[in-house]
Amino acid sequence: MSKSPDRPIPKPHIETLAVHAGEVRDKAHDSLVTPLIMATAYPFENTDELHRYFRGEHIRNEEYGRYGNPTQEVAEAKLAALDGGESALLTSTGMSAIVTTLLAMVKPGMHLVITADSYRKTRVFVREFLAKFGIQHTSCEPSVAGIAAAVTPGTRLIITESPTNPYLNCIDLEALVAFARERKIKTLIDATLATPFNLQPLAFGVDLVVHSATKYLGGHNDLMAGVVVGNDGLIEAIREHQGMFGALASPFTAYMLIRGLKTFAVRMRQHNASGQAIAEFLEKHPQVEQVWYPGLASHGAHAIAKRQMKGFGGLISFSIRGDLVAASRVIDAVKIPYLAPSLGGPESLIEQPALMSYYDKSPEERTKLGIRENLIRLSVGLENTQDLIDDLDQALAKV
Ligand SMILES: *Cc1c(COP(=O)(O)O)cnc(C)c1O
Repeated sequence: MSKSPDRPIPKPHIETLAVHAGEVRDKAHDSLVTPLIMATAYPFENTDELHRYFRGEHIRNEEYGRYGNPTQEVAEAKLAALDGGESALLTSTGMSAIVTTLLAMVKPGMHLVITADSYRKTRVFVREFLAKFGIQHTSCEPSVAGIAAAVTPGTRLIITESPTNPYLNCIDLEALVAFARERKIKTLIDATLATPFNLQPLAFGVDLVVHSATKYLGGHNDLMAGVVVGNDGLIEAIREHQGMFGALASPFTAYMLIRGLKTFAVRMRQHNASGQAIAEFLEKHPQVEQVWYPGLASHGAHAIAKRQMKGFGGLISFSIRGDLVAASRVIDAVKIPYLAPSLGGPESLIEQPALMSYYDKSPEERTKLGIRENLIRLSVGLENTQDLIDDLDQALAKV
């Protein structure tokens, strides 16, 4: 299937891209929606076609399922368009997007810089896995100043996130790219929490953007996938590695992702509006100690976030005026959000980082990592905003 629509739409906005980008108008069997194609192999007409294909004289996309699939290609073209990139690679999970990308980018002896509040498993991969192969790294505070202080002459890659989890720190992308380009260092941003609706890192000159499509892109708490977006050359190099590692999203996942993306812009607008309103409600609540949400003027990264983001998403962290047990009482008292990890779906989800991602750590270790015992993380879903506020209000009375 072709990469661009056969009736190019002049200057489409993100809502239009979410519905139409990557899809051909004239689909197989006159289907309105992109068909789910499960085939693992794509037969040739005869040996002549085979010769012409391998000589590059005959362009057809498919050969064997691990190298590409028509449904996956539509999802990839749509995701590339949403992020304003040349190419995208769809993977089985967000972690496989990160791991495949890093394995394609690293070389023996090179040094990389990673910001300290990056996704926990990304940090573990860099610290425990890449280190086994002699790849050095420095972990630093999540700011351009922190990154600049950690860079060495051997640094070839900077890995960061914006916003980060759980404190929603934002990196000044303009300053980051200016710093990195001057030193010929590549930049990789995990923008899962921002999504291409709120932030377009490639437009700032970032080299590669990764997302866990399990979150807002899939958007329905029912699929796992990841994506990396960048220029054709970088994505092709990462795709070659995927062909070896095989960390592919299934065609069914790609189909579900395409379906979920149709409502991406509509969903994000609601996540942003509800997120902002609930963050403002929490900030005024007497039982709440502190709120971390980049849309609040009180957040340390508010100025950066306001400059580079369209909205601030549905993830909010807040601490309560009480201890770990009091925070648990709030979690157990809410009637709408489920107690679960993950984020970005229609169902609101709530958790205590100390009792989820950091359960295995002692209170002292958590304090060292900056994870407060009384911290609550809320992924605001698509329920009515006032219903969520009323629910949180009655639950906070239990502090
Ligand atoms: C969830 C998440 C990941 C990992 O994605 P999976 O799809 O669970 O593998 C990576 N980065 C961030 C910021 C995430 O929230």
